[in-house]
Amino acid sequence: MSYLGLRSKKVAIVGAGAIGTNTAKLLAKAGVGSITLIDRDFIELKNLQRQTLFTKKDVGMPKAIVAKKKLKELNSKTKINAIVADLNYKNASLLSSNLVLDCTDNFETRFLINDYCKKNGVSWVYAAVIRNIGTVYNIIPDNACFRCIFNNHSSLETCDTAGVSNTAVVKTSSLQASEAIKILLKKKYEKNMVRINKQQLIKLKVKKNRDCKSCKGDYEYLTGKKGSKVLKLCGTNTYQVKGKPINLKLLMKKLKGNVKNFDYCIHFNKITLFKDGRAIIKANSSEKAKSIYSRIIG
Ligand SMILES: [Zn+2]
Repeated sequence: MSYLGLRSKKVAIVGAGAIGTNTAKLLAKAGVGSITLIDRDFIELKNLQRQTLFTKKDVGMPKAIVAKKKLKELNSKTKINAIVADLNYKNASLLSSNLVLDCTDNFETRFLINDYCKKNGVSWVYAAVIRNIGTVYNIIPDNACFRCIFNNHSSLETCDTAGVSNTAVVKTSSLQASEAIKILLKKKYEKNMVRINKQQLIKLKVKKNRDCKSCKGDYEYLTGKKGSKVLKLCGTNTYQVKGKPINLKLLMKKLKGNVKNFDYCIHFNKITLFKDGRAIIKANSSEKAKSIYSRIIG
């Protein structure tokens, strides 16, 4: 298969974690012309075994920024647009591209991607790894969409990242990248949902749901009707709280104690604050996270 056609293509990748960095690596190497990489998080030591693009010295830095630097080293011709932000209904136009790749670890963002892509007639590829099982599904505008399959995310939020093996991640992102290339080059792509369980590939037929809101044009996530201000992140007891943009320099003067500055974000005790007003807070409950946020930001 000739990859020449990829040079004129633009791909948006949401999430620069384990799957996102591997998929981005493969697409940059294959010669995709432009990649928008959107990620809200920073690099942590405990994730390095799965996030193979990052090393110890990158800990504390935003994932998107470090990933851009490393991807440029792999293929300097691919244009990389790194965005440190939480994808939400207000900035969903960041997804503008020929193809969107879901490399997130949460359902709310996936429902938003689904709404955006459905409305704008853009294809996207869902990829997830839970424990050692990977899943990939191509969501093409006229086929069954993500919300046709998963309607209620609260019961599905089983995203404990403990024990996710790096080999399962590599297999899943390889499949996602190869499907992405096929869709971009208008080749025959996989229509079923594919599950990778150790050495087995299982194909699952999916059907349109007649009651699917997104298919009916009711874009609840894209209009902001649905979506939460506080979000539990995968893995540990970590919450993301959203607020208004913060002047980090001014805030640093006010904070007493050990504050580490990484330009795009600052780390203070168990809190990481981003310029766009988000905070990632280690806490036992969402209420506790919210109260820590208001204590610091007001
Ligand atoms: Zn649907």
